[in-house]
Amino acid sequence: MSSRIAFVTGASRGIGRATALSLAAAGHTVILAARDQQKLDEVAGAIRSAGGAAHTVQIDLSSPESIQQAFAQAKEIGTVTILVNNAGITRDGLAMRMKPEDWSAVLNTNLTGAFLCIQQVLQGMMKERWGRIINIASVVGESGNAGQANYVASKAGLVGLTKSLAIELGSRNITVNAITPGFIETDMTAVLGEPIREKMLANIPLKRFGQPGEVAGAVKFLASDEAAYITGSVLRVNGGMYL
Ligand code: NAP
Repeated sequence: MSSRIAFVTGASRGIGRATALSLAAAGHTVILAARDQQKLDEVAGAIRSAGGAAHTVQIDLSSPESIQQAFAQAKEIGTVTILVNNAGITRDGLAMRMKPEDWSAVLNTNLTGAFLCIQQVLQGMMKERWGRIINIASVVGESGNAGQANYVASKAGLVGLTKSLAIELGSRNITVNAITPGFIETDMTAVLGEPIREKMLANIPLKRFGQPGEVAGAVKFLASDEAAYITGSVLRVNGGMYL
């Protein structure tokens, strides 16, 4: 497999961490991006101990300036040809009571942040005539979910963004795909109470929650040469909970 430079947002923990480890094990140089430098250093250390190549950059996806600065640092490492837009947040609440700042924070981080990252890598990918953009959306972006209007809108938006850019960038040999994970065991889902977990489990045909590595495996595949003819697709990694 060819060795490339991959930029992974939200690489400090959870699915992003697993994705960074997986892309590094596949031989790629990985740029780990998130806000928590200490956690990024820990992930970079794990990659290097396993013989892989990793760099860290701090990024706050809610800030266009921070995104610009992070990619300026990335450009010093080389041309990013694999971008994984993984970072995401929730600020759940019923629509009637949702504060405008909770709406904006989620849309800015999950959707606008991802779009601004894509803008940063396009020129390089076009020059290379090779690129892989992988957006981590969510099962609820397809199904909808009460109490998550902001999060669901951001994730459904990512799917629309994925499809539009797949069409726009296809002639440049840049593929753009989305992954919609179901319930994956990370910090994001650890906060959910036992009744919700049990209700969800009952609706998962595989009868278990997913692991971060199982999403990472799908990312690794979509980033590979084997996935060259896949673009604009939405790959469900959800144990069958939504079909
Ligand atoms: P997580 O454990 O909460 O990790 C979130 C990651 O995003 C962290 O690395 C965090 O890093 C980063 N992040 C958050 N806000 C950021 C910001 N403003 N700027 C830069 N980085 C930021 O979440 P996860 O479960 O791994 O989820 C990863 C992605 O999968 C998210 O997009 C999530 O919506 C999606 N997803 C998760 C599940 C699930 O069941 N877990 C299901 C469907 C979809 P710092 O805090 O260090 O900045």
